[in-house]
Amino acid sequence: MSRSDDRALHPQATIRSQLMLPRNHRAAKWADVPDEQWYDWKWQLKNRINSVAELEEVLVLTESERKGASAEGIFRLDITPYFASLMDREDPTCPVRRQVIPTEEELQPFTSMMEDSLAEDKHSPVPGLVHRYPDRVLMLVTTQCASYCRYCTRSRIVGDPTETFNPAEYEQQLNYLRNTPQVRDVLLSGGDPLTLAPKVLGRLLAELRKIPHIEIIRIGTRVPVFMPMRVTQELCDTLAEHHPLWMNIHVNHPKEITPEVADACDRLTRAGVPLGNQSVLLRGVNDHAVIMQKLVRELVKIRVRPYYIYQCDLVHGAGHLRTTVSKGLEIMESLRGHTSGYSVPTYVVDAPGGGGKIPVAPNYVLSHSPEKLILRNFEGYIAAYSEPTDYTGPDMAVPEDWVRKEPGQSGIYGLMEGERISIEPKEFSESRHRPGSVQHRLNSREDKWAAHGIGAQTDHAGHMDAGVSDTAPDGMVEAPQPVSGD
Ligand code: SF4
Repeated sequence: MSRSDDRALHPQATIRSQLMLPRNHRAAKWADVPDEQWYDWKWQLKNRINSVAELEEVLVLTESERKGASAEGIFRLDITPYFASLMDREDPTCPVRRQVIPTEEELQPFTSMMEDSLAEDKHSPVPGLVHRYPDRVLMLVTTQCASYCRYCTRSRIVGDPTETFNPAEYEQQLNYLRNTPQVRDVLLSGGDPLTLAPKVLGRLLAELRKIPHIEIIRIGTRVPVFMPMRVTQELCDTLAEHHPLWMNIHVNHPKEITPEVADACDRLTRAGVPLGNQSVLLRGVNDHAVIMQKLVRELVKIRVRPYYIYQCDLVHGAGHLRTTVSKGLEIMESLRGHTSGYSVPTYVVDAPGGGGKIPVAPNYVLSHSPEKLILRNFEGYIAAYSEPTDYTGPDMAVPEDWVRKEPGQSGIYGLMEGERISIEPKEFSESRHRPGSVQHRLNSREDKWAAHGIGAQTDHAGHMDAGVSDTAPDGMVEAPQPVSGD
């Protein structure tokens, strides 16, 4: 018996609830809606369902779902008729249902949960603009979505119309970008930028395009999945005016890939928008190797590159949807090598506190000597790769203006490049300060702890600079060590 045969299945679990659905699939509630209305995104938005009574017209709710959906103060509940029609009426393990229907468990706090687990608001120089990485920003342009995911990282503001961004705040965001030449990449998100009025979105894109140092614009959206009819040819034409423009959609389960979603993605790719997908690893939705394998294959078939699998964030309401990281690694083990590289996303943990996305992967390097790298593949085949013995590094000249100079580019790479010998937490020196210690003949010369030549920078002609001025963001690390005075 295989391990999967051993799994305890939910008593109501059916295979039916996992299957992909045909075109124009509708719950009985909307069977008679004319196609012109059904395929009109404004009709879809206007007719979203959000009350227990409306949910009960589409689903046989469990007691837990009824309690969750009727609880006071829950994260916003709204589901487009299109997406609601993908839910299985009887089976509460339906992966679409679990993403958008609240349950009683959602109300349970858990130890590590936070309101803003990625510390986005802390890294916002102006409202809605998160500047966490050196060369790129996240620009929150709305708090509205077509439907609402129960595990939403930004549930602190998403869904709340009073928190949304106004024209004065857009102007603040744009001004910050105009005055910050280090930003070369802007990711529009929210909420969902594709829920904005087409004119507002078009204006924002046009203003961003006027800023010469912004090289690329990206959009993160779930609209093509919640409401594919919104991806009209008119929208695609607007997007195409602002290239280079990239887009990440958000599909968690193969069932979300309907013919309508495939058509929407086709229109986007024909408009020259490269598409990627971000999934969140969710308990009871896609925490199964077979489901993830099917998902990545189906995505590539519609020309969407699986980009990230996110570990679920430590956010209020999402505790019951979290899996272990070891489950994520197990799934990655089932993807790499088992399917083409284009279909293998990067599995990331978005570091609590604002550390950014950290990739986690199975370990493929078993050992390393100066001459040999010992590797294993997905099958467990172990091989020795012989390193070149005469390699001394690159010897070409690199144009000076290709080198990014803004702070925060150094990091671990800076250690390898010899810019510094260590990265220290802010408290490192403080914690080693001993009460009663005095400056004396053995500890008074700082240059004793500067390695010869480390901390010097060579320019691209190979000359050495005495000292490096690079500092990491937020003063979180010590400045690089000075060059020895010897
Ligand atoms: S679409 Fe994105 S922003 Fe909107 S609720 Fe879902 S996860 Fe949150």
